[in-house]
Amino acid sequence: MSEFNLQNLVRANVQKLQPYSSARDEYKASGTEMIFLDANENPYENGMNRYPDPQQRDLKSALAKLKNVKEEQILFGNGSDEVLDLIFRAFCEPGVDNVITLPPTYGMYKVLTGINNIENREVLLTEEFQLDIKSILKLVDEQTKLLFICSPNNPTGNAFDARAIKTILENFNGIVVIDEAYIDFSSYETWIGFVDLYPNLIVTQTLSKAYGMAGIRLGICYASAAIISVLNKIKPPYNVNELTQQKALERVLAVDEVFDEVESILEERNRLMIALQEIKFIKEIFPTDANFVLVKVDDANERYQELIEKGIVIRNRTTQPLCENTLRFTIGTSVENKKLVEALKFLNKEI
Ligand SMILES: *Cc1c(COP(=O)(O)O)cnc(C)c1O
Repeated sequence: MSEFNLQNLVRANVQKLQPYSSARDEYKASGTEMIFLDANENPYENGMNRYPDPQQRDLKSALAKLKNVKEEQILFGNGSDEVLDLIFRAFCEPGVDNVITLPPTYGMYKVLTGINNIENREVLLTEEFQLDIKSILKLVDEQTKLLFICSPNNPTGNAFDARAIKTILENFNGIVVIDEAYIDFSSYETWIGFVDLYPNLIVTQTLSKAYGMAGIRLGICYASAAIISVLNKIKPPYNVNELTQQKALERVLAVDEVFDEVESILEERNRLMIALQEIKFIKEIFPTDANFVLVKVDDANERYQELIEKGIVIRNRTTQPLCENTLRFTIGTSVENKKLVEALKFLNKEI
């Protein structure tokens, strides 16, 4: 296969685009106090009357420090869902190109192939929920632009071995997107430090899970400066609103709270995993590197309904490939997890 070449991967129409720039940005950077009569805003200051910074510089600078990457290697989106959509639109020609996804995995990749009219080539994980590298590489052709690896994987919970991912990075000349939505719960290392070593690597993260900020919608894309500048050309200028930027910055600056919460969630996860072993209708508890655990039960539809009747909503994954009769439990607070276990024990007795 030919060498990786970013320019050849970018859609022709995107190659021709110039990034959006607002006149105000240039003057703001100069440091002098200016009067801004350029954007038809209401001039009376209330903290939100101005358009937000389209490059989110304060947040980017704080996150770059925290994550030890360069600001030019970061792009933010309205959730990682927007970041993923931007990646499709930058690299995939509708009706022509294809991508590879690895079910059972996060449903959004497939949804985005539908929205963008891109062929979705699916390669199942192995029975042990590992990457089937041979089958993946066999499916690649000249039109294969993206490959999605979710690690830790939703809904199975496991992270993938670094050597397997490395093999794919070194043998696939399209873009490898590693979705690290759950990385903060994992004992595996993040890939964000490798975006310069692998020019075909994009890593996505989010404030929606460990950072406890699902409501503000902030997704993060880490990649080489070259890839980030391609995505910057097609991103809506004000895709991250001012409220989100402020809340996200506060949270990133108070990251010790995040780490404390993650630690508590991991302790709770251990406790729950042990308690689940006592439930007879749970046939298998899959290892997890995330803030949820997937289990195999006798009858997922039945158990799901019973838990609903007890006022507990979990996720039934039984229709997913390789996931027949599985349920996914998010790790809640100590009280919530106890109630879950009590409910499961009660159902246990009813058989
Ligand atoms: C929850 C989740 C996300 C989060 O998406 P946001 O749009 O940032 O909330 C991304 N990827 C995976 C695999 C997830 O499970």
